[in-house]
Amino acid sequence: MIRITNIERFATHDGPGIRTTFFFKGCMLHCPWCSNPETWSSSPVLLHDAKKCTSCGLCEKACANGAIRLVNGQWTYDRHKCRVCRRCEAECLNDAISFSGNDYTVSELVTIAKKDLDFYEESQGGVTLSGGEVFMQFEGLRELVHALKKEGLHVALETTGCYSNEKLKEIADEIDLFLMDLKHTDAEKLYEATGADGQLVMDNFRYLADHYPEKIILRMPVIPRFNDDEETILSVLDFAAQTGIAEVDLLPFHPLGKSKWIQMGRRYAYENDKMMDKENLYPYIQIGKEKGIQVKVGG
Ligand code: SF4
Ligand code: SF4
Repeated sequence: MIRITNIERFATHDGPGIRTTFFFKGCMLHCPWCSNPETWSSSPVLLHDAKKCTSCGLCEKACANGAIRLVNGQWTYDRHKCRVCRRCEAECLNDAISFSGNDYTVSELVTIAKKDLDFYEESQGGVTLSGGEVFMQFEGLRELVHALKKEGLHVALETTGCYSNEKLKEIADEIDLFLMDLKHTDAEKLYEATGADGQLVMDNFRYLADHYPEKIILRMPVIPRFNDDEETILSVLDFAAQTGIAEVDLLPFHPLGKSKWIQMGRRYAYENDKMMDKENLYPYIQIGKEKGIQVKVGG
């Protein structure tokens, strides 16, 4: 079984052509700008959409564990008490409650992926495995990749790069494309902000660049006050040039994950930040050229 938070068909980003993207549950990082914070926990996560909620109280009545309370119309949810029975979700007539995380067998996922075979063929597309961090469910990942390759599908992994090199070596041969993040070259700053082991991430980049240089795209989400300064962006381009990585995608910050943070009852650290202007990053296209790298803005 593989626990998935979302399945996106006809996706046109995160790899070439038209794609089906499976979002895996579980992540060892905790980037405060994350667009998919509901993927972090390995367990299903309750999302409450206040815009749809009419404060009818049906969910409170349905919960035998006292995890939901409506106090003066204010909805509160205690994750420690919740046993994920999903009765509240079933009772809500307004679809204001949903759970992120459903289990699928490998063959169920392959069947879903194969629904769009014609579109993949026409557009040179395929399947992208994203998250969360796909390596958190390594056994399932390995099995799924193998099954998708048996069907002749193009498989891309969107990944943090933060896991043991042994696991990477085990499946790297079967992967067609790695979309791998490098968020900062300063390991201490990276760890402080995200919990990632920067040395491990950079070692995995070096391994892929040495063995599969044609399969790797380095992605850098450009985040206000974390890595959006010229020195940090240049250091990532220099790392790519030195390591032999041919393409770097700079991904301008966007606050599209904000509503999920709110639905999870958590504060979004970038609530006052607007979408970054792509044009600010265009000068790095020419700088990349001079370093022998193709830089794309937005991927
Ligand atoms: S059942 Fe749905 S609409 Fe009613 S209070 Fe609960 S979340 Fe809101
Ligand atoms: S999933 Fe079950 S235990 Fe959790 S809040 Fe809903 S009704 Fe209560």
